[in-house]
Amino acid sequence: MATSKVLKVVLLSGLLSAMSSVAFAKTCAVSIEGNDQMQFSKTSIPVAADCTEVELTLKHSGKLPVTAMGHNWVLTKTADFQAVATAGTSAGPANNYVPKDDARVIVATKLVGGGESTTIKFPTSKLTKGGDYTFFCSFPGHWSLMKGKLVFGG
Ligand code: ZN
Repeated sequence: MATSKVLKVVLLSGLLSAMSSVAFAKTCAVSIEGNDQMQFSKTSIPVAADCTEVELTLKHSGKLPVTAMGHNWVLTKTADFQAVATAGTSAGPANNYVPKDDARVIVATKLVGGGESTTIKFPTSKLTKGGDYTFFCSFPGHWSLMKGKLVFGG
């Protein structure tokens, strides 16, 4: 008796998660590169309106080590960008130059050095369609050059 009840619950939850992944989920892959000249390869990243999740890959196409030319990819509202970048410098290398537990940070990758790459996934439920978002590298001194706009559903 108890066993069949558990079985029904397992079957039902499996069916529900299968349905939701077929009907609604759409992961959109995006990639961007950073180089030894302190530049991102893109100044704008479009994310289609029907994407439910973004899979972002940051690749460091240069050769310099992370301590000298580290790059990360940090996303905030454009209105928060400069304050978060400044707070990131204070947070230091132990925190990847990203302020800890800061709600203004929508998503942030780890720092990578030359030849390395990193991938991060985040749900677009963290974004508002048509919102004004800026991505940047929070390594000290980089964010004045290494920045761009993420456009969701625009
Ligand atoms: Zn950088």
